[in-house]
Amino acid sequence: MSKPTKYVYEFAEGGRDMAALLGGKGAGLAEMTRIGLPVPPGFTVTTDACKVYLETGGEPPELGVEAVQALARLEQTMGRTLGAPDDPLLVSVRSGARFSMPGMMETILDIGLNDQSVTGLAKASGQERFAWDSYRRLIQMFGHTVMGVDGDLFEQAIAEHKARRAVADDHLLDTAELALLTEEFKAIIRKETGEDFPQDPADQLFRAILAVFDSWNTERARVYRHREHIPADLGTAVNVQAMVFGNLGSTVTSESSGTGVAFTRDPATGERGMYGDYLPDAQGEDVVAGVRDALPISELKALDPRAYAELCDHLRTLESHYRDLCDVEFTVERGKLWILQTRVGKRTAEAAFRIAHDLSQERTITPDEALTRVDGTELTRLMFPRFETRSTDVPLAHGVPASPGAAVGVAVFDSAEAVRRAAAGEHTVLVRRETTPDDLPGMIAAEAVLTSRGGKTSHAAVVARGMGKVCVCGAESLAVDPVARRLTTESGVVVSEGDTVSVDGTAGTVHLGALPLTASDVGHALETGVSTGPLTEAVQGALAHADSVRRLEVRANADTPEDAARARSLGAQGIGLCRTEHMFLGERRALVEAMILARDNTTRERALEALLPLQRADFTGILKAMDGLPVTIRLLDPPLHEFLPDRTELAVRLASAAHPDVHDRELLDAVERMHEQNPMLGLRGVRLGLAVPGLMAMQVRAVAEAVVQRLRDGGRPCAEIMVPLVGTVEELRLARAEAERVLAEVAAETGEALACPIGTMIELPRAALTAGSIARFADFFSFGTNDLTQTTWGLSRDDAEASFFPLYLEKEVFGVSPFETIDQEGVGRLVQLALDEGRAVNSRLETGVCGEHGGDPESIHFFHRAGLDYVSCSPFRIPAARLEAGRAALSDTIAADDSR
Ligand code: PEP
Ligand code: MG
Repeated sequence: MSKPTKYVYEFAEGGRDMAALLGGKGAGLAEMTRIGLPVPPGFTVTTDACKVYLETGGEPPELGVEAVQALARLEQTMGRTLGAPDDPLLVSVRSGARFSMPGMMETILDIGLNDQSVTGLAKASGQERFAWDSYRRLIQMFGHTVMGVDGDLFEQAIAEHKARRAVADDHLLDTAELALLTEEFKAIIRKETGEDFPQDPADQLFRAILAVFDSWNTERARVYRHREHIPADLGTAVNVQAMVFGNLGSTVTSESSGTGVAFTRDPATGERGMYGDYLPDAQGEDVVAGVRDALPISELKALDPRAYAELCDHLRTLESHYRDLCDVEFTVERGKLWILQTRVGKRTAEAAFRIAHDLSQERTITPDEALTRVDGTELTRLMFPRFETRSTDVPLAHGVPASPGAAVGVAVFDSAEAVRRAAAGEHTVLVRRETTPDDLPGMIAAEAVLTSRGGKTSHAAVVARGMGKVCVCGAESLAVDPVARRLTTESGVVVSEGDTVSVDGTAGTVHLGALPLTASDVGHALETGVSTGPLTEAVQGALAHADSVRRLEVRANADTPEDAARARSLGAQGIGLCRTEHMFLGERRALVEAMILARDNTTRERALEALLPLQRADFTGILKAMDGLPVTIRLLDPPLHEFLPDRTELAVRLASAAHPDVHDRELLDAVERMHEQNPMLGLRGVRLGLAVPGLMAMQVRAVAEAVVQRLRDGGRPCAEIMVPLVGTVEELRLARAEAERVLAEVAAETGEALACPIGTMIELPRAALTAGSIARFADFFSFGTNDLTQTTWGLSRDDAEASFFPLYLEKEVFGVSPFETIDQEGVGRLVQLALDEGRAVNSRLETGVCGEHGGDPESIHFFHRAGLDYVSCSPFRIPAARLEAGRAALSDTIAADDSR
């Protein structure tokens, strides 16, 4: 026969590993009891009991008996009886789920008080007012939480009494007034529920336990769980604990009372040394509620040196026991220190790095463990300048926090204006409904990009992130009017061109005026390698360790020499994706237009010949910046119409011109010829290379000549040529033959041996499914997970994000956008299949990923497990990718620390 389920555990019976059953708080109390810390005794009703209650609507039958037995033992330990008329034992009843849900569920204090025991408490404590204040608190909390009376009714009664006595603070109501209030509270309960406040202490206790179970499903608890991804069926444990009092007055200095919270280190900065707040003559809840201003914990030293020394001692014990930052809630009752709660403390990103580093230096944890305690998201947050947050700042609008950081500038409403003002030294924020490749110069010139449409992977977001530029997109409440050059907020505030705004890409908010900024030391230190203090030292330490354990290489997506150099200084081991389309914009556009408009080969060749030296110079610069490291250059991918003017704009220009321009007419013809319903699925990628004579040859020649030039300059160029959007091996075979032909031509012309690997992107499901064939003609595979996600899901990223994605996220069709974190089940499966089948055919096949997912922490862990050789991401995300690649390697050996 299986052992019957046990629903109640005394603190002495549990331990830290039992958080699932006893909740975080119960496990902490049990652990502290076990290691001899002064914890008021008590017991925990398990989450199992709550689950039964939530499932069946009734508590398990054994619970009553077990609780009564546990209470009897508690009474024995305390030498007092719950609610006894003279010197009663009082208990608190608190929720405590597996994962911390601060303030979301209920707590009831002072259980055991009734019309008799209140007098007993007054006598035993010697403090009549304290006893009556505790009694009215119990009736108020119990009436509201257990009996469902509207809390405002009690607050109103308190307000009336204060008004009558002309006092501003609850504290100033005297004993007589509190006794009257107590009677009024009881009357309110009777009137509202038709029932009396229960005088039986055991009845109070039992009903309070069930009320805590019920509070698992309050609206706010549900909303919180949803946001924090806490499963809805875990249930909460309930902790019943002997009350100790911090509000017994501080009249006798050697026997002071009070309550506080303390951390073993500063949870904001990570600095060593105790940190916290203390509130003399107060109950625990008062500190958390911020009812009165607390004193810094150091003042307890003067108020009660013995309790202070003891507290320091216990904090040291806890930190070395948990081997991490701990926080505690404590109470001093007449000079006696009690610890009421502990847990591994929450901390900022800065503190996370410093604490992990310091604990490792102190040899409390190993460098491997230190690395598991920080993550890439925290590191990215530390690299951006940030605003000093002030609670008084009300944003103009909220949008999607697409690219983190803080930027201040004047609003401008088109790209040219951003460029013009930037040239004049002005900081700008480019405001658009959405951005297109046309906006690129403005995006480069601006400090931040703000759009009213699009999500985290819209053009604005992707490009801004790539550039490490602040971006808030999809701020839908803003009406952006590019013609009138202004935006209007929901509440009617108008921001015109030239007005200063602040964009918080971390929070996803926009503010009027300039918020104060704090620069990031971390970003600077990582780029220069110079450490400027304990935080940068800690970050560099974590990265060095990640580098020493990771298997995945980290490359950059970069297409200018500047970005390449920056990526290299941030630790990139090459370029995994050099997109060539950005090299076709700006002043070169005229040449690209000429190439597109060419009616015969000679004209086209002339245009391509003019582009050749420019492309060669681009590649030479990038190869120089990445000397000795691989540079994967992708042949032109986007459909050509992206390089031509907008169809409507052109048509309007032609229609309104007195003498229509011939060139414009030709352009419009070309635009109309090339117009596609679904350009994403149209003439792009390798299709373009095969369809436009000379284009691919020009690009390959530019690469080959750049390599030759670098070789002649004494460099070590390692260029690789990448063919985009291949769907069948035939396409790659043709493209490869053409590339090899041009490479051989340049080799013959220059006498230099050109060993240039040729590979392909795997970004179409068909390519993944036929990877075995494709691998015969590929030296490498680079997974373009942006397009692979679009084509596997059968949707267009920008359109989907602007239309139904918000709904899908709300309805939890997916928890996170598949463009942000790789969809392991679908797209990931294709990656794995292509990888395995490609390698089976070509054992020397090199494999990487260059879609946005290459910089996403969770996706990096997947790519590590899948067995890819490298990830490639925007320069700015490289440190985080290095860190996560290290963490991924560790997670093979270390199970994630369950207690965090
Ligand atoms: C991809 O599709 O993942 C990719 C890197 O290519 P692009 O984003 O340029 O289409
Ligand atoms: Mg692609």
